Amino acid sequence: MNIPFLDLKRQYNLIKDEINDAVMDVLDSQKFILGEKVEEFEKNVARYCGAKNAIGVASGTDALLLSLKAHNISGKVLTSPFTFFATAGAIYNAGAIPQFIDIDPKTYNMSPDGLENVIKKYENVSAIIPVHLFGQSTDMDPIIEIAEEHDLTIIEDAAQSLGAEYKEKKIGSINTSCFSFFPSKNLGCLGDGGMITTNDDELAEKIRTLRVHGSKPKYYHHMIGYNSRLDAIQASVLNVKLKYLDKWTDARIKNAMNYNKYLKDLINLELPEMHVRGKHVYNQYTIKVKSDLRNNMKEFLGENGINTSIYYPLPLHLQPCFSFLRYTKGDFKNSETACNEVLSLPIFPELKKEEIKYVTDTIKNFVFN
Ligand SMILES: *Cc1c(COP(=O)(O)O)cnc(C)c1O
Repeated sequence: MNIPFLDLKRQYNLIKDEINDAVMDVLDSQKFILGEKVEEFEKNVARYCGAKNAIGVASGTDALLLSLKAHNISGKVLTSPFTFFATAGAIYNAGAIPQFIDIDPKTYNMSPDGLENVIKKYENVSAIIPVHLFGQSTDMDPIIEIAEEHDLTIIEDAAQSLGAEYKEKKIGSINTSCFSFFPSKNLGCLGDGGMITTNDDELAEKIRTLRVHGSKPKYYHHMIGYNSRLDAIQASVLNVKLKYLDKWTDARIKNAMNYNKYLKDLINLELPEMHVRGKHVYNQYTIKVKSDLRNNMKEFLGENGINTSIYYPLPLHLQPCFSFLRYTKGDFKNSETACNEVLSLPIFPELKKEEIKYVTDTIKNFVFN
């Protein structure tokens, strides 16, 4: 059996006519930049997340960059070293310096332990960017408490977590939050796209201005902004796909529960159980393979037609481009161990139960041979 890591064609084939019509609508209108479709999608996402405002931008990376700029962030910004590069790249490109806080090894998300010490160590910390990795919320309450105490801004990297919940609240409904519609996210478009949600009307207006070169009205610039807009074609397609998001999320959760059922009690494997009260939307189903077996297992699965991924092989504090931050190996042990042990299995909503069974049988063959 051949099992792709992610097969977007299966999803497209289920709603092909609707998607094609949505694209044709925009072609017929010949209105490509912002406009009605984008406004409609912004309203839909704001309602979906329970936020007052949603602002469409060109990517998840730009959502982070424009959020940092709109909040006037400078100095140091704390984030996780176990995330996609964009989180820290955006901090640097916004003119601030990323500093890292290790993860909780169970959730892969920023641990509040040590946060206070780092804030005291560097005097100019101005913001914290928790990342809701793989579809599960960071444990926000202790982080919010520390941020309030030290008057720090929180910007959430929710690129992998649209639809996820922390306690009873949707991600995106509390702090400024950044989403991505990169094709591999839970809600993916036909290329790049991103969104910022916020309850602060003034901040929302500032981001709307920043995404059009800081001009308001047109050709009058009070700020130096960017060209960073969500395309009308993307918004039109996303309006169609958003209607299916909860159904797809349910399918991801069901797949995860099947993996859990078939893989439980295997030695040397750790499964992605929920460790925070809320809703995990499984952008990834990531297991931990102990005792240096990860790379061998990945190879064995590959030989048996099963495609897997390693998110992420190298933590950000050890990336060559951040050597100027002077971190060394051993600084964030939980993140470093995660990089050596994680393996993400196929989890996309259209994956069939037989396919999950085949993946788990193959893993059992590996573990017990
Ligand atoms: C995908 C992703 C981003 C960046 O989103 P793009 O739309 O690809 O720019 C940022 N942070 C995390 C955690 C991501 O997974």
